[in-house]
Amino acid sequence: MLNSEKLTIAGQLAAGIAHEVRNPLTAIKGFLQLMERKMEDQTYFGIIESEIDRIELILSELLVLAKPQDFKFESVYLPALIEDIKTLIDTQAIMNNVKIEVVNTDEPITINGDINQLKQVFINFLKNAIEAMPNGGSCIIEMKAIGENKVKIFFKDTGDGIPPQLLKRIGEPFFTTKENGTGLGIMISKQIIENHHGTVHFWSDKKGTIIEVILPLQ
Ligand code: ADP
Ligand code: MG
Repeated sequence: MLNSEKLTIAGQLAAGIAHEVRNPLTAIKGFLQLMERKMEDQTYFGIIESEIDRIELILSELLVLAKPQDFKFESVYLPALIEDIKTLIDTQAIMNNVKIEVVNTDEPITINGDINQLKQVFINFLKNAIEAMPNGGSCIIEMKAIGENKVKIFFKDTGDGIPPQLLKRIGEPFFTTKENGTGLGIMISKQIIENHHGTVHFWSDKKGTIIEVILPLQ
């Protein structure tokens, strides 16, 4: 509990800082573009711009960690939300030869949550799955009610998997194995699910990765 408290505070701090840094950064970026037009020597502009883009990417990930009191909790019909996410990410999946399949028992699975935050979580998981399958594959999203008051959502991919020695580091801030990764997606997703009183677990081997999310039903 103490750890999750610490993470919440760190998360809020990170989101607050991200918010404050974004405005001056936008100004710097704008003036840089003005300068670029006037300068004959363009040598370093490309590097500066790509570094600014990188800062913006990290800020945009951190901004998702809004204050819990900013969340808008409402009734969320999960099968519809998952369908929305699938539509959103399908183009990227198809381009990477990845088939996303939704397995849905016909149970009326409704939870209490913030739609945008939950979407963010599922997009993060699906993006990671696609990125773990450079030669294509499949990702199955399965949801079912367990008992009277919980829902279990599985994300199963046929990707490269996470080596056992790295599995325990998943969710550490800035832990990434990707050249252009931020290592913030899983940390943020775990935090959001915890804010929804849920849990996240990972299993992985060379055949792929399974993510299990458990959330309380409404
Ligand atoms: P990023 O995607 O920017 O690297 P994440 O927090 O989303 O950051 O993920 C952290 C790391 O966890 C990834 O770099 C990758 O090594 C590993 N990972 C996450 N999801 C998967 C997955 N489905 N299959 C294999 N590895 C994964
Ligand atoms: Mg990611």
